[in-house]
Amino acid sequence: VGLGLAVSALAVSLVACGSDDGDSGSGGGAKKIALLLPESKTTRYEALDRPLFTEALKAACADCELIYSNADQDAAKQQQQAEAALTQGANVLVLDPVDGKAAAAVVASAKSQSVPVVAYDRFIENADYYVSFENEAVGKLQAQTLVDTLKAAGKTSGNLAMINGAPTDPNAADFKKGAHSVLDSSGFKIAAEFDTPDWSPDKAQAWMEGQLSAIKNGLVGVYAANDGTAGGAIAALKGGGVTPLPPVTGQDSELAAIQRIVAGDQAMTIYKAVKPQAEAAAKGALALANGSKPESTTEKSGIPSTILDPVAVTKANIKDTVVKDNIYKVTDICTAS
Ligand code: BGC
Repeated sequence: VGLGLAVSALAVSLVACGSDDGDSGSGGGAKKIALLLPESKTTRYEALDRPLFTEALKAACADCELIYSNADQDAAKQQQQAEAALTQGANVLVLDPVDGKAAAAVVASAKSQSVPVVAYDRFIENADYYVSFENEAVGKLQAQTLVDTLKAAGKTSGNLAMINGAPTDPNAADFKKGAHSVLDSSGFKIAAEFDTPDWSPDKAQAWMEGQLSAIKNGLVGVYAANDGTAGGAIAALKGGGVTPLPPVTGQDSELAAIQRIVAGDQAMTIYKAVKPQAEAAAKGALALANGSKPESTTEKSGIPSTILDPVAVTKANIKDTVVKDNIYKVTDICTAS
């Protein structure tokens, strides 16, 4: 049983061969597609990206094989996982890199074996296709919602703490840029700012705890770049006896964050529809595996790209976003207390 599990965790053959799916490009034998995700402290990867990509690949190609791995925030481990996928005969790598720059080595290695690479969510130079969201817009939406929330509460000045993502993630720089473009001229003061290594919620929490003595009194709001870091910040604020809690931003619409929004502990999150993202990546990977061009709507640095729109979520539109799209049922959110 142990061996069976280990093998099936590495390579999941989705469905037996079939040729009735109307996909004209599926000739040339069963394709192997590798999905390489960066970490699991942020819940989206195992909860959404992995199952939705698996489903999308199965729908697009019944006899494709998925090779899956998660790098647990470790760029060196991810490189080994990519090499292992190439050794197993992957026809395409769908790579969400732990470290955008270090991923260049993976791309070079894949290219030397004529294996195309899809940059999944995080940009990689020289990839063959890129699927993501308007990441600067994510930062703008987070910051604007924070400012709007503060103004609605009658506040026009005070200290903000800013908790950004990992310096190795190119998205983090975009979120930060978008957020600064709003906050810098908002009338509020960014009293302290932190780039969270590896996006680790525990590191965000430790930093927030360390800031409290200095900025607690004038603190009116916290910009946290995702729900994991928001959770860390909120735990630090609660632990430090900050009442009432200042508004805190987030991103990913993690279930725990949606529950905090309902409870009034978090002001907002961002909903990025992972389903169309996973579908675009799966279809694009398949096109590349079959030697054709992926469908794209735009390009970034010469790489054909599909870029989706993020949506800000507050208490007011939970039902019209994540519930409407069937990400969560109301009964998932409102568990009995
Ligand atoms: C993703 C976010 C995620 C973060 C931490 C970013 O690249 O776009 O959705 O919260 O990484 O994993």
